Amino acid sequence: MDIASLPVTSLKGVGPKLAEKLKRLGLHTVQDVLFHLPLRYQDRTRVLPMGGLRPGMEAVVEGEIELADVVFRGRRSLICRVSDGTGHLHLRFFYFSAAQQANLARGRRLRLFGEVRFGPAGLEMIHPEYEFTDDTQPAKAEENLTPVYPATTGVHQLSLRKLARQALEKYLEKIEELLPPAVLQELRLPTLTEALTLVHQPPPHTPVELLAQGKHPAVLRLAFEELLAHHLSLKRLRTRAQTESAPAITGAGRLMQQLLVQLPFQLTRAQQRVLDEILHDLRQGHPMQRLVQGDVGSGKTIVAACASLGAIESGLQVAVMAPTELLADQHLRNFSGWLEPLGVSVVGLSGKLNGRARQGALEKIGSGRAAIAVGTQALFQEDVEFADLGLIIVDEQHRFGVHQRLALREKGRRGDRRPHQLIMTATPIPRTLAQSLYADLDVSVIDELPPGRKPVETVAIPAARRADVVSRIRDACTAGRQAYWVCPLIEESETLELETATDTAQALHEALPELKVALIHGRMKPLEKEKIMAAFKRGEIHLLVATTVIEVGVDVPNASLMIIENAERLGLSQLHQLRGRIGRGQAESHCVLLYQAPLSEMARARLAALRETSDGFEIARRDLEMRGPGEVLGTRQAGMPQFHIADLLRDRALLPRVQQLADLLLREYPESVDPIVRRWLSGAETYGNV
Ligand code: ADP
Ligand code: MG
Repeated sequence: MDIASLPVTSLKGVGPKLAEKLKRLGLHTVQDVLFHLPLRYQDRTRVLPMGGLRPGMEAVVEGEIELADVVFRGRRSLICRVSDGTGHLHLRFFYFSAAQQANLARGRRLRLFGEVRFGPAGLEMIHPEYEFTDDTQPAKAEENLTPVYPATTGVHQLSLRKLARQALEKYLEKIEELLPPAVLQELRLPTLTEALTLVHQPPPHTPVELLAQGKHPAVLRLAFEELLAHHLSLKRLRTRAQTESAPAITGAGRLMQQLLVQLPFQLTRAQQRVLDEILHDLRQGHPMQRLVQGDVGSGKTIVAACASLGAIESGLQVAVMAPTELLADQHLRNFSGWLEPLGVSVVGLSGKLNGRARQGALEKIGSGRAAIAVGTQALFQEDVEFADLGLIIVDEQHRFGVHQRLALREKGRRGDRRPHQLIMTATPIPRTLAQSLYADLDVSVIDELPPGRKPVETVAIPAARRADVVSRIRDACTAGRQAYWVCPLIEESETLELETATDTAQALHEALPELKVALIHGRMKPLEKEKIMAAFKRGEIHLLVATTVIEVGVDVPNASLMIIENAERLGLSQLHQLRGRIGRGQAESHCVLLYQAPLSEMARARLAALRETSDGFEIARRDLEMRGPGEVLGTRQAGMPQFHIADLLRDRALLPRVQQLADLLLREYPESVDPIVRRWLSGAETYGNV
């Protein structure tokens, strides 16, 4: 029996109504109930002496009522004073029946469970659970620690406890162990059934802090298998791609050579190496799935353009997709500038295009007259038909996940031939993490910046010295340089951000009458944004005040000064990405981090990290330490795997073993792969079942 497909309604006491509510907790199957881990535990296994109670504890105590009284202080309430010889405690009831009041009388003995708080007359419990012990058998203590599950309105803790207990009793034996015993032994991890029993019913004295922090072997065991399932699923995709066919791109590289000789620079060794890796993939006749990682400014675009020319020379079309209109426009300008002189026709397609212009673009793409289409996601809308798409290039990949990658590839499919895919990202990620997140991809790294780049000199200055900063801008701009002034989101409101930016632009305009100051923000029409960016690029604007709308990839080499306001509020990677827009030209570049004093410990560490290093990978490593991968990579963004139990940062020590074991299973126990993947990635989540 497969408990992964056994609905919760097969548990006693779960009707359609409760099942509906359980769905809100993500509990659809019996297995979901078993994988729904407690948040914390209560110790009801022993009775504590009242003398040892501290505020905040949840405890079982036993004692005798010494006093019971209804008081009217503010609110009518029943107060009982209970004592056990070691100390005493007040019980406070705001709601009580006449019968309760009669029962809770002086001289009765009872057992209590509740949270200890500090009350007006010493320690107290509000509405504790209670049970009389004088006229019955002594109350039975719990054998195990009591789990407290994540719950939701209408689903009581008690029902969740009952369900988990029932699921364990009925189905635990039917759970198949999917990991080889030798592996478990080596990692010192328990079996799945041992792990599940422990997390739901930990015996007294289990170190519950370890459980809650996910450091207990039982939780690690579950996390390990979950990470393994994700990894296997991605790996399987990659293996599958090697059996699929794609057009083999075997041209002599004539167009590419023409482009390279016309460039005002030579490719760096890193660019050349990565380009060779790409060209090698393209020759194989299987769809390339390659990720190119390269810090901001490492020169990914020209590499992408060279790769495109390979496909185009073979008579295939190329689609270049960017996450925003602004970046799409920039790519369109770059690609047109490089490729049109070679006789390659480039067409743009983004959301802002409509009517006749859009029809025209669609026609060029559909007829094959356009060799290369550059745009936003609009490129992959329903009605866009390519004549013969051979290569898809996706820039700034961190906004795309595995599902999007797959969907794109399917969209470009012709018969059983799929296009090649090249994905470019400026978000550096530590190696082990990248190997897990992108296990379906081959990874290339451009680990060298073009020569002559001077590292950006970074300083942190308190906002009180704003006037100094303004005169610095005046000096730089009158000397022919250009500058950015970034006003990041400080309230959770786009309107406020916009107001701040507008005010700032106005103030700077007044303070710097000799300079041309312009404002760019997210609410502007694409055409307006484009005009301003173009003017800035031509050098007609000295100082560009921007909300966070200026995108990661914007490239204006003459801009060599950047002021970031409220820098203390931004994350490390975000600051690094922002700063990456300067230091692209020959001039000495400066980044000023304006902060509101006083700085928190964390903010101080972030600003220090930025001053000390400009290496994107080092920044990513520190960011990860400070914040965790969810925030660094944007968990809530499309494409990040959603784990039930595992946590990429917390469990990162497991990743190398997960990766090794995945390789071993795929090689030697291929039959075990499917059950593991199916256990953890249900239905739509299973990568590749599109
Ligand atoms: P990113 O990797 O951030 O996308 P870009 O592709 O925008 O970087 O390149 C940044 C700038 O560096 C561009 O102006 C580009 O023309 C320039 N560039 C790229 N490669 C080289 C090189 N090998 N030598 C000098 N400049 C280069
Ligand atoms: Mg770029």
